[in-house]
Amino acid sequence: MTKFFPCLLVAITFVACNPPQSSSLPPLPEDMNHPAAQIELPETERPKNIILMVGDGMGLTQITAGLYSNDNQLNLERFPAIGLHKSYSSDNLVTDSAAGATAFSAGRKTYNGAIGVDPDGKSLYTILEEAEDQGLATGLVSTSTIVHATPASFIAHEKQRSFYEAIAADFLDTEIDLFIGGGKKYFDRREDDRNLLKELRQKGYHVSSYFEEKLEAVTVDYSKNLAYLTADSDPLTYNQGRKYLQFASELACDFLDKRGANDGFFLMIEGAQIDWGGHANNTDYIITEMLDFDRSIGAVMDFAEADGNTLVIVTADHETGGFAINPGSTHDTIVGAFTSDYHTAALIPVFAYGPGAELFNGIYENTAIYHKMRQTYGFGELATGK
Ligand SMILES: [Zn+2]
Repeated sequence: MTKFFPCLLVAITFVACNPPQSSSLPPLPEDMNHPAAQIELPETERPKNIILMVGDGMGLTQITAGLYSNDNQLNLERFPAIGLHKSYSSDNLVTDSAAGATAFSAGRKTYNGAIGVDPDGKSLYTILEEAEDQGLATGLVSTSTIVHATPASFIAHEKQRSFYEAIAADFLDTEIDLFIGGGKKYFDRREDDRNLLKELRQKGYHVSSYFEEKLEAVTVDYSKNLAYLTADSDPLTYNQGRKYLQFASELACDFLDKRGANDGFFLMIEGAQIDWGGHANNTDYIITEMLDFDRSIGAVMDFAEADGNTLVIVTADHETGGFAINPGSTHDTIVGAFTSDYHTAALIPVFAYGPGAELFNGIYENTAIYHKMRQTYGFGELATGK
């Protein structure tokens, strides 16, 4: 416990803080985690493609700080539908990124640390896996390692988020068309001596990395799946020179649009380090990462507007830092303050554009984002996969 005051407050409600331990939250309502308990949603237009963009740790204040620091404008203002989701996990009012992303990827509230598994540790069938099985092209892009909690929860099934090498191996069990992110060492310098990059090549992937060439220099072969590792472990911060997110987002849209052909695609793009700026209680870090993410949102919106058949959803898994913009701030200088160096439990905004966007108005559970995506795709009543 490094922050005395907030810990004292939350201790009253038995919600642990920093880092959170399992809590004594009351059990979820019976129907919350039951796959059959889907909300009845109205008929809607169906998009061919869905792009889910997750700004890790991006609460309303992070958005606000980015907005005022960027001449009072953001690409997020281009979205007509706005909602709020309830981010809590199955064992803690304050979620982590693993449980948060599993809610989006598989529609289940699970425990903090769970990667694509339910509270009993059983593998869940994710929307990325279902999209793949339905013949859609699929992709993951992140400014973290590609085995980190948010992207991992769409493709891997592990009881703990720290099982990075096991998560990397889970990529080999899929036919994901494209992935771009850090964490090369989890693929080619492993305790089990497997070289997953070699195995990906044997599977027919075009594999490249920062070590060989810049992402912009990759010769894209649309007849092959594409894996590009942007760093050996964690990618740099934007301020340190990591600039690939916008280009990777454009590349992924174009690549998956061609790979998906008539069937469409599912793409998840994560702006991972807004969260890290929050953990560091560093206002400038938050703002530069927020604006990098927003430029990538702009690139995705340009694609979606031109395409006309793409649903774009932008949200966060949780807020980080209890970030506030204090008196004394100006448009040019944000005076940030923090209540925590961990996540908080605030409601999280959801922005949607494209066919089916209206379903994302209102207030709902984080798990509803999964069900709304499935519904707009027109996937069947219940997901039946592994
Ligand atoms: Zn975090």
